Amino acid sequence: MLLCYTVLLIMLLNLLSCAFLSSREISESDNKKHHLPDGTFKNRFDSSIDKSFSDLIKWWWNGETPEDVDFEIAENDPQFLKNNKESQTLTWLGHSTLLIQYDGINIITDPHLTQRASPVSFAGPKRYTNPGLSVEDLPEIDLIVISHNHYDHLDKLTIEKLFEKQVKNPPRIFVPLKLKEWFVNLGIENVVELDWNESEIFGEWIIHAVPVQHWSSRTPWDRNKTLWAGWVLEKEGFRFFFAGDTGYSKDFKNLGKKFGQFDLAAIPIGGYDPRWFMKSSHANPEEAVKIHIDINYRYSVGIHWGTFILTDEPLDEPPKLLKVAAEKSGIKKDEFFVMKHGETKILDFLKITQ
Ligand code: ZN
Ligand code: ZN
Repeated sequence: MLLCYTVLLIMLLNLLSCAFLSSREISESDNKKHHLPDGTFKNRFDSSIDKSFSDLIKWWWNGETPEDVDFEIAENDPQFLKNNKESQTLTWLGHSTLLIQYDGINIITDPHLTQRASPVSFAGPKRYTNPGLSVEDLPEIDLIVISHNHYDHLDKLTIEKLFEKQVKNPPRIFVPLKLKEWFVNLGIENVVELDWNESEIFGEWIIHAVPVQHWSSRTPWDRNKTLWAGWVLEKEGFRFFFAGDTGYSKDFKNLGKKFGQFDLAAIPIGGYDPRWFMKSSHANPEEAVKIHIDINYRYSVGIHWGTFILTDEPLDEPPKLLKVAAEKSGIKKDEFFVMKHGETKILDFLKITQ
């Protein structure tokens, strides 16, 4: 039985050890509701992971081991990506790692390009599908956004390699509140730390941290001590939302109201089974479609699937269920798409029409 590393390790060890602008319309007191007196954070609408150790044992006992699947890795062209200054592109490198090239700026989300989602190199969830590109093959990165500190989203080895490679021209990195220290401890200073509904300018872009429904932890002692977030990246003519890791919540209707229409969203579609255990922190494909509708996106790409075995659902099930849920909701073909690992899409289809 394979288990979600973060939940298992942390719950087991717990048992053993016992800017630019602030919000456009959210008031100061409302905006701080997720800050708890002990310095930790909570979700706005749901307490998220509140499962007991007996719940964990129940999942462990009854859980499924997903069957093997052969994912086709798309052939990539690192040289094109390295030289590209003209085309707007989107490349899925696996899990929640996307490379976005837009108007000559290279952006990467939750970069994870190594073999384990774990604090140690010899144990923990092993990568099932190889990354679409190695760190060496990446173009020079200008901007990194990090959603939270779980090991499948914040990978020390990838971050270190990236910053070693770009020692003369380090990328700017945006992180949720209280996560800057982790980078400073690695000797990385070029970090912007934001609370929910705070924003900061980056060149021609405005980068906003926004609330999503999740939690954080890297050790048995730090649950929710650092914030988690989604990121809205906007510049003239383009607005992108990276949802990171999230369950379904009212946050998304609020986000839709706050920003109006968006062009492209990256929404997690995997990590949902068993539902009784995962629902509060991971959306399933049906809920991912609800998020897509709530936030009024033109296009969405499904992420957080087919890369690490973290939960019980079959590895190739999320895109199948996504297709069914999208059809049921009347979402047009290709409006909420998935990509092959390593695939690059030219974002011509975003040009329109407004
Ligand atoms: Zn997570
Ligand atoms: Zn995750």
